[in-house]
Formats: sequence, structure tokens, C-alpha cells
Amino acid sequence: MAYVVKKLINGKPYYYLKASKRVDGKVVSKNIAYFGKKKPTKRDVEDKLKQIKNVVPKKEADVEHITKDVVPKDNKLYKGLPDSKSMVEISDMAVFCKKKGFVYPDSEIYGGMAGFFDYGPLGVELKNNIKNDWWKRFVQSRADVVGIDGAIISHPKVWEASGHVENFNDVYVKCKNCKKPNKIDKTEVGKVKCPECDGEYEVIGDINLMFKTNVGPVEGNVAYLRPETAQLIFTNFKAVAETSRVKLPFGIAQIGKAFRNEISPRDFLFRCREFEQMEIEFFIHPEQTECGLLKKKDNNFEFQLLTGKDQEEGKEEHATIKLGDMLDKKMLGEWHAYWIKENYQWFLDLGIDKKDLRLREHMKDELAHYSSACFDIEYKYSFGWKEVHGNANRGQFDLTKHQETSKKSMELFDEESKQKVIPRVIEPSQGVDRAFLTVLFNAYYDDKERGNVVLKLAPKLAPIKVGIFPLVNKLNKEAKEIFDLLKEDFVCQFDTSGSVGRRYARADEIGIPYCITFDFDSLKDKAVTIRDRDTTKQIRVKIDELKEVLGKLLNSEIKSEAAGKLIK
Ligand SMILES: [Zn+2]
Repeated sequence: MAYVVKKLINGKPYYYLKASKRVDGKVVSKNIAYFGKKKPTKRDVEDKLKQIKNVVPKKEADVEHITKDVVPKDNKLYKGLPDSKSMVEISDMAVFCKKKGFVYPDSEIYGGMAGFFDYGPLGVELKNNIKNDWWKRFVQSRADVVGIDGAIISHPKVWEASGHVENFNDVYVKCKNCKKPNKIDKTEVGKVKCPECDGEYEVIGDINLMFKTNVGPVEGNVAYLRPETAQLIFTNFKAVAETSRVKLPFGIAQIGKAFRNEISPRDFLFRCREFEQMEIEFFIHPEQTECGLLKKKDNNFEFQLLTGKDQEEGKEEHATIKLGDMLDKKMLGEWHAYWIKENYQWFLDLGIDKKDLRLREHMKDELAHYSSACFDIEYKYSFGWKEVHGNANRGQFDLTKHQETSKKSMELFDEESKQKVIPRVIEPSQGVDRAFLTVLFNAYYDDKERGNVVLKLAPKLAPIKVGIFPLVNKLNKEAKEIFDLLKEDFVCQFDTSGSVGRRYARADEIGIPYCITFDFDSLKDKAVTIRDRDTTKQIRVKIDELKEVLGKLLNSEIKSEAAGKLIK
């Protein structure tokens, strides 16, 4: 039978026709047509099926039995694939985060504020570790990227030049039937219906997604909380170029908060009203197409890729493709490919499972007005493949706009070509909160054998690196000395309450990679037991060597089996 499904891509609905059939007793469904943004009527579906039957042999499409439920009431929303590794639902993840002190709903004692969250004691550590890792890799370890930290409120002209005052609008609508509010694109007015009940929409008005505020004591001095960090990089572009002696090509990076007045924030940290971004704007001579940083071996770098063309044809399956082949097919330029590869690799280096990461090329009708090509890195959450990183070719759009609006030159003198140029821009950009969520979903294992959750975070990301336990309270003083010995070098936790087994379980749940137990033998052999979170294997290590061994273990230089005497 055939039926229509809606798939949300960046919050916008796209409609596909699916057909399912029985193969060897299993129901297999596949996309057979793509309708675009407009929800198809029953008539559209019938026409499409006629078309398909003319080109596809009947057996293949197997769409004979159209039930009367051809156009469902949109309750068949696209959901995550059932073989997803982390089957924990997003709502359960929110509960876990609250229970363990990673993330709390904001101002919960007053009933909370939708779309706002507060990071707790463990959350702030994990979030900082993610940001620091990114900053170290993309700013501090590179000679060609420098950082800034711009203001949240800027001159309102910034947002006029960027197009946000005029274009960052959605149409605010309300369902005439079930009264649920929603936001839709201008082009969708009169075309789309309520996804909940199929009701007609009543247009309430345009809504700009920027948060407005008033600066100073006089009313009317309107300013905006920044809806993205990127514009601060463009407005500071000349100042940075002149004061930091960087030469083209170079990048400016920023990590910081941004705000969007979403009508319907959802999916926990995934779509919030206040969020944090990590972005680079990388400036290149407009005529330079060759990327000197791309090595020959990078041509063999493999992505899982879902192409724009495939999506237009209704396919959902990605395929493996080499970077070199993407270049050969002219899907993108060398510099763009280089930055996508660098960021894809960053996720892999955080321990994100290769099979749960893919690249999705934007379809033509999805591209932002400033962008000539855009690829998202997506992660397979339990609620579907979702964007965790966007990588756009912004061309010369932003600098040109700021030059026009400010009447200040945005040209740079390029010494190599002896030309004054407005550079073109590649923009690798991502949300910190989404990276945080990706890391958590990827690390979350419900270990049935142990009877507790094990958070298999990469050691460099773990909020607490070492747990230190006395076997019994009688040994508290000696165990505390171990804590004092290590606390300068590692983030440690001293835990004396409950059985050691209970303490291991608590440590597993918050992702502590190594736990040390001081026991009665320790008094004699001056050694302690180190237990590995992932394998539960235990080794005996001399207290004298503890700092060195832990350092190597946490840097993943050695495996724990090789770091001391294995305890059977
Ligand atoms: Zn409705």
C-alpha cells in the first residue's frame, strides 16, 4: 500500500509518498515519490501513482492497494529508525539530565520557561570540555584562525545589513480547528494545513524571530539580542585583519550565546530560544579555488552522504562517498570540502559512532538566500537524523552587505596578488547544545548486566575524570590523601557513601572513566585499585606511579590492562 509521510527538515515539512510491501514475511517500505513542501491532496497522490505505474513495472512499485487512508492526518510523522543504537527517547534523556545534574529546566520553581535551560554541575563541566576541545583544535592549534568574543547586543544596523530585520520572519498562524499555534514560511501561506488535525490556518501576523530590547532609559532605542554569532565576526573583520597581522586565507572563530524567539521550541536542548554557537568564518581570496591545506590522502576521506538530488527523488538512504569523488562531481569547492572534512573528523574524534554520522546536502529550494551550497552534518538520534553542524558557502554576501550599509570599506589588500579584494567566506557553524546532546546520546548505554546506565564519554570530555573511594569509612583519611594528591592534576570526586558497588554504579552513570579504591592492602603495599568504567577490569597501581598512569590512561595512550597488574 502507499501512504504519505511528512519529514521535518530543519523544522520545515517535506512530503514523500511511501509504498510498503511484504518481502519474506517482513514489511519493507520505501519512498517512491517526492512532493516538496506542499502537503499533497488525495488527488495529487492518485496522479502521482498513475505516473509511477506508467514508468515503474507494477511488481516493483506494488501500489495496487491504495487504502482510503492514503493521506493520513499526519500522525505518521517521520521517526528515528528502530535500529538506532540509543533508543532512549528525548524526553527520557531530559529526565536523565535533570536527575544527574547535567541540565535543569530554567526557573522551574516558577513553572519553568519553555525553550530555556540551565546547565547543572556536571553539565557545565561537559559543556566546557566540548567548547575547550573545539577551541583548542580550531583556534589555538592553528596559525590561520584567531578568536573573538563579541557583544550580545550590537548596533541595530548590523541586523539591517545582515537581512535579519527584514527577512528573519516567519508567519505566525493558528489552527482554526485545534487552535494550536505554529510558524510557517511566507511561501507556505494558504498552502499548508495544521499537521495535528489537518485544519485550515488563520494568519495572526508576521513574527520576527529576534528578541527585541530597549537600550538606555529612553523608550524607543530598539536593539536586538543577536540571533547568530556570525555577524559579529563580519563587523570586526577589518579590525581583526588590521590588528592581528593575519593574511588571506584566514579564519575568525567565536563561541557565544545567540537567541531566537522560536514559536514552538521543542526536543529538549535541540531547539531552544537561548543557545550557544561555535562558528568560524573563513576568509579566502575570491579567485582562489585551490585549497593548499587539502592533502592528497584526503581524497580518500569517506563520508556517509545523502545528496540533494536523492532527497528530491524521495530517497532517504545515504551512501558512502569519498571526498575526492565529491570534488570530481563538482558538488562543492576544495575549501568547502576541507572544512567539512575537518568538522566531520572532529565529531569522530569525540568518539561519535561513524555509522551514526552523515552529511546531508541541502536541496535547492532549501538553500538560504546568501548561500550557494550547504551541507549539514547530521547525527542519528532516537528521534531521527538531525542537523548538528552546518557548513555553508556564504560567498561575499555578508561583507558586501556591511560595506553597503556602513559605507566603510570591507576590502582587504592581498599582498600575494597585490589586489584589494572582498574575500569570500566558508562558514563551519554549529550549536554547542546540540553537540552536547549528540555526545550524551552517543555515550548512553543502558547496561542490563550491570543494572545501571553507563555513560561512555570520551575521557577528555568526562566532567569528572577520577573517582576516589575508601573501601570502608575507617580508611577515609588515607583515601582523602589520594584525593589531595590528584586533585591538582585531574578533576576528582571523593565518594564515601554506600557500598563500593553502589559508588561504581553512580560513577558509571555520570561517565567517570576511572575509579580508585583504597583498601586495607593499600596500607601495606602502597598501591590502589583502578577500575575501568568501560570494561570494569581492575588493575593494581603503586601510589607513587598513580599520577603518571592516570595521565596516560586519560590521554588514551595506554589501555588499562597494560597500566598495572590485572586483578582476576
Ligand atoms: Zn489543528
